[in-house]
Amino acid sequence: MTTTADDDGPTFSHFEAFRLINFTFIKAIQAVTAPDLSPRERAEKLMRYHGDLLAAYGPGVPLPFSEFRRKLRGPMDGLLPPWLDRSQFDDLSFPVVDAEGCVTGNAFDLQWETSQLHRILKRLRRIGRMRFTEEQLQDEIDQDQMYEILKGRGDEQYVKDRTTLVECPAGTIEELNKRGLPLNAIRYYEAIPYHAVYRTWWFPCTVCQWPMKISKRMSAGREYYRVACLYGRHADTGASFMFWPTSGDAPVLHPDSPDAPAPHEAALFLGTGVAVPEAKPVEGHLALKRGVWRYTCVPGLHELRLHSVLRERLAATQTDVGEAVMLWPMSDAYDHRVEVKGPDGRSHVFTVDVKDYTHARVLAESLHRNEGDKGGAEWLVVPDHRADQIPLLTLTCDKYGMKVATMTDFAKRVCQSAGVRWA
Ligand SMILES: [Zn+2]
Repeated sequence: MTTTADDDGPTFSHFEAFRLINFTFIKAIQAVTAPDLSPRERAEKLMRYHGDLLAAYGPGVPLPFSEFRRKLRGPMDGLLPPWLDRSQFDDLSFPVVDAEGCVTGNAFDLQWETSQLHRILKRLRRIGRMRFTEEQLQDEIDQDQMYEILKGRGDEQYVKDRTTLVECPAGTIEELNKRGLPLNAIRYYEAIPYHAVYRTWWFPCTVCQWPMKISKRMSAGREYYRVACLYGRHADTGASFMFWPTSGDAPVLHPDSPDAPAPHEAALFLGTGVAVPEAKPVEGHLALKRGVWRYTCVPGLHELRLHSVLRERLAATQTDVGEAVMLWPMSDAYDHRVEVKGPDGRSHVFTVDVKDYTHARVLAESLHRNEGDKGGAEWLVVPDHRADQIPLLTLTCDKYGMKVATMTDFAKRVCQSAGVRWA
């Protein structure tokens, strides 16, 4: 496969090829590591993905089966054919799968983020020359269908249900039922993922409550386990622990030392709720699918926090703060709509989309293809820990009249317009 020009549209994108290749590798890795497959099922799946990959590589790029299997354990960059232009991506030297056979956060995010881009490209122009199977699109369809299910119950209920989803990425069936989620939404919960299970136990992340990943380590000849959230920022800021193996009892976690936020970012910092989580039984508990957790719950916590901080700070100066500060308004056209009156009586409106992408270049390309924000937001806001993405995103957003800021800088700006001091 090579880059070819279309008569009536943008050229065939390296992102599209990349997406297919990346997807195939991730599925192949899952086939290698999933504990519930028989050797025969495993072999069949691997052969199929090997074939898919050869088709995507195109003629002239050989990949024997043994090398394909070996590459699954290597870095992302090693999986790409020589003809694929790497300059459109950030660093690709990270591994696709970690020592426990779990797809790394970096690789998982890249797959999802390029999928979003793929959808945009597909909308712009039908892609006839590549085979995208149902399975390849399932994760994205899941996410879309879930929002449709939530939207079916009206705007006010939508905000409630989506908040519930963000706040409850795991729980017992009884707990989930009690929270009043629509029945159709419950099917996005699955058994606790095997990478998060120790014997019959799992541990919720102290920031997001989703099951933390467990990995076996050795120190001075002694075996121990590390427990950390798959979302790196949570692990770096408190959701990281260790425990010693046990013979029958539930293990007890000991915290690692977390990073602390800069003082001026403290208001929007997602700290940990409880210091050390207790082991929960795998039996009877469910957790959201990884994609839904990563792209609904993880950014959702930032969205909820921004919303509550703005409401709190603006309450004294705005006559109806409920109308002034809105979350997921107009059937979720964007994430926030804020309308404040300044001390001089002038009105200021801010429409915002929060973007929590790991790979800023992919986000920039998506914005470029959409010619700004799809829902028409004028502000693109990234969580504070993604401040290093601001220069690149500003370059793209400038072209489409959008402004870019970190969450704290944005909140400061809103408060300033309303004559409220940010301290
Ligand atoms: Zn977490």
